[in-house]
Formats: sequence, C-alpha cells, structure tokens
Amino acid sequence: MVGSPARLDPRLHVAVVGAGAFGGWTALALLGRGARVTLFDAWGPGNSRASSGGESRVIRGMYGPDPLYTEWVARSLEVWQEAETRWGTRLFHKTGCLWMFATDDVYARASLPLLEKVGLPAVELTVAAARERWPQIEFSGIRTVFFEEQAGYLRARRACQAVAAAVAAQGGEVRSAAVRPGPLRGHFLGGLTLQDGSRFEADAYVFACGPWLGRLFPTEVGERIRPTRQEIFFFGTPEGDSRFDSANLPIWMEFGERIFYGIPGSGSVDGQGDGARGFKVADDTRGEPIDPTGDERLPTAVHLAEAREVLARRFPVLAGAPVVEARVCQYENTPDGHLLVDRHPGADNAWLVGGGSGHGFKLGPALGEHVAGLVVDGVEPLPQFRLAHRQPPAGKPRSQFEAGRREPPL
Ligand SMILES: Cc1cc2nc3c(=O)[nH]c(=O)nc-3n(C[C@H](O)[C@H](O)[C@H](O)COP(=O)(O)OP(=O)(O)OC[C@H]3O[C@@H](n4cnc5c(N)ncnc54)[C@H](O)[C@@H]3O)c2cc1C
Repeated sequence: MVGSPARLDPRLHVAVVGAGAFGGWTALALLGRGARVTLFDAWGPGNSRASSGGESRVIRGMYGPDPLYTEWVARSLEVWQEAETRWGTRLFHKTGCLWMFATDDVYARASLPLLEKVGLPAVELTVAAARERWPQIEFSGIRTVFFEEQAGYLRARRACQAVAAAVAAQGGEVRSAAVRPGPLRGHFLGGLTLQDGSRFEADAYVFACGPWLGRLFPTEVGERIRPTRQEIFFFGTPEGDSRFDSANLPIWMEFGERIFYGIPGSGSVDGQGDGARGFKVADDTRGEPIDPTGDERLPTAVHLAEAREVLARRFPVLAGAPVVEARVCQYENTPDGHLLVDRHPGADNAWLVGGGSGHGFKLGPALGEHVAGLVVDGVEPLPQFRLAHRQPPAGKPRSQFEAGRREPPL
C-alpha cells in the first residue's frame, strides 16, 4: 500500500486516468476498497475515439488454454449482471456464441474443461445439427462447431457511462480533463499536469489510457502498445425478418484464414438493444496503424467489400444488404495479445493498465478488482501482464486467438 501523509481525509486518494472499460471499473473497485477516487477523462467515458466507445462488445468465456482469462470472464459476467440490476439499465444481452472452425479447433478444445469448471460450458455440435438449428447460416467449409450458451454482448458505450455515473454516485469525483504525468520525485510520481497547466496530486495514480498509453509513456510503454485501425460494419436486415435478430441467432465467430465475427441485429427484445444498429460484421485481423487522436474515422471500400463477402458467404439471405452504419475503432495491441498491467518502472505509486488487444472490454470488472488489489494491498502484478515480458514487436501484433492456437491442447 502506498503511504499517505497525515491530513483531514485519511483515505488513500487515487487518481485514475481514463474512463474506458479499464479505468472506469478500476475506479469503482477502488471505491469499493475504501479509497478516495478522482477519475479523469479527456473526452468523457465511452467517447467516439476510445476503444470502449463502440456500440457492443462480445463477452465469451472461451479463451484457449488460459484459465486466468476464463476465470476473469466468469467473475466479470457476474459483476456485469449484478451491476445492470443495481443500476436499472440493461448492459448484457445473452445470445450464446457460435464458434465455427474451418481450420484447426485447438483453441476451442483447450477451453472446454476450463469453461466447464467456471460454469460457462460450451458443447460441440455436429455441423448437421448446427445447420438444422440455424438454417439462416451457410456452414460450407466449416469443420467443427461449438456453442457457448452463456455468452452474449455488452453495450459498450452505454456501460462506460453507467460505470462513470456509479463512480460519481458512490462519492468518486469524475473530471473532464486531459492530463499528463508529472515529473518523478525519487521513486514516486509527483502528480499530474492538467490541460490548463494546473497540477493535481493524489497518493497513487492509475493510467488506463487505452491506445494513448504508449504516447503518454513513450519510454516505459512506447511501441509495446500499438493501436491498429479496425472497421466495423452494421448491415440492415430485411424488413420484418426476425431470423437475424438476437432472439434467433447467437453471436458468431468464424475461424478460417482470418477470423471474422458478428453480433446479430435487433436486440429489440427490450426495445433498447444495440441490435437497432443492424447486423454487425467485423474482421479480427489487425489493421493499419492509427493515430487515436487525429485520424479520421471513415471506413474504406476494401474493408467494406471484405465484410460483404463474409456476409454473402455465411448469411446468403443478407447478400447485398445495405450498410446502415459503420465505425472505425482501434485495437490497442500488445506484442502477444495479453493485457498490460504493471507498476510504473520508475514510480512506486503509479500503475500502467491497458493492452486490451481487441478482447479486453468484457474483462473490465475483474481487471478493476485486480488493479484495486495491486494499488491498495501492494500485491505484485501478474508476471504474464508485466512490461518486462513485452518487447516491441518486429512484425504485426498478434491476436490472443493466434497465441491460443500455438498452445498444445490441454
Ligand atoms: C472494433 C473493436 C471491437 C472489439 N471487440 C471486443 C469484444 O467483442 N469483446 C471485448 O471484450 N473487447 C473487444 N474490444 C476491445 C476492447 O473494446 C478494448 O480492449 C477496451 O475497450 C479497452 O478499454 P480501455 O479502458 O483500456 O481503453 P479506452 O476505452 O480507449 O479508454 C481509455 C480512455 O482514456 C482516455 N484518455 C486517454 N488519454 C488521456 C489523457 N491523457 N488524459 C485523460 N484521459 C485520457 C480516453 O479518452 C479514453 O476514454 C474491441 C475493440 C475494438 C476497437
């Protein structure tokens, strides 16, 4: 635990920078541990530039052979559901997740016992059984199929706003300001500099700045987090056709030469689903580098053509469906696709938290509890998430799916 000087409020005061999925849940967990919290964000929780600023994010427990992530998903799902009940706003839509493998399925098979253990089981289906259950999907080329029933999607942007509102409701301070880390004083970070030049001091600092983390800490993080441009397309389903609604179709993942995934349209079961945005199709392949602050976010014809090709191949009824919305977001990739959670190498009272690498959103609640434990209890960061494990990559960043594929099955 970081020592705090004698003063009127004896609580540990933590400044959390970034109100995305990581910073927001960290702030909430710190409040739960009795800390005083100030949460900063330059453009607000779930803003359009933030990695958490999309409409929807998948939550699934299948994580290859890695028990930690599967356990964190189970814990996070529990917290997401408790939170939506407590806050009276729907954040989680249970749809199940259909995993389709045209290539090897080592990733899925390695997950099965781990999923079973945490109560999020997945079952293998024959292709014939899957075809019968979801006739709106064309399964040609698919060799194996798994169905994870408890999976679903989270309403990302809305969730970040709900978390920040909960931080404020629980006595935290939420401030709109861009900040920079101040100079080091010995082995401690001496404070923050706000955009208006003023200074802000706390006992401890958590920087959860998503794709900006490398820019804020060019020496300590730098190229260890590389933001890449990702395009998302929402297609319009035929009028009155409910076959592509979340009530009738799960989230789907297709593992072939590349990994594509999607979220069904019309989550209008409760009249407020993000399905209203359309039938989402996304490519998990890492895109070109992006400047998260300055770059324009306009989709390209090349990526649209690729999304259309997947749509026509897997959902033939939707071939030629119009794009009703599109987004350009970024993954904030670490070299190996694992999260980055570590103490600042030069400051005992500062922590660096990020590297969601295209899969971090769902983990926000469990990650927040973990980071609160590091800050309040002074436990050591997990070895696999530390800075020392990450050298800036020579080639393109890898996804956690690729990392999973290289592991032997359990
Ligand atoms: C297209 C796409 C699809 C994805 N799909 C999934 C999925 O299906 N499931 C899943 O679990 N994950 C998914 N992810 C990954 C997930 O969304 C991210 O890993 C996660 O949202 C990262 O959250 P974060 O809090 O680290 O970063 P962000 O959400 O980027 O939050 C960082 C915040 O810091 C603020 N900030 C930055 N610098 C400063 C500063 N100097 N001062 C003040 N504030 C600052 C920013 O404004 C921002 O709000 C996806 C990501 C993308 C882009």
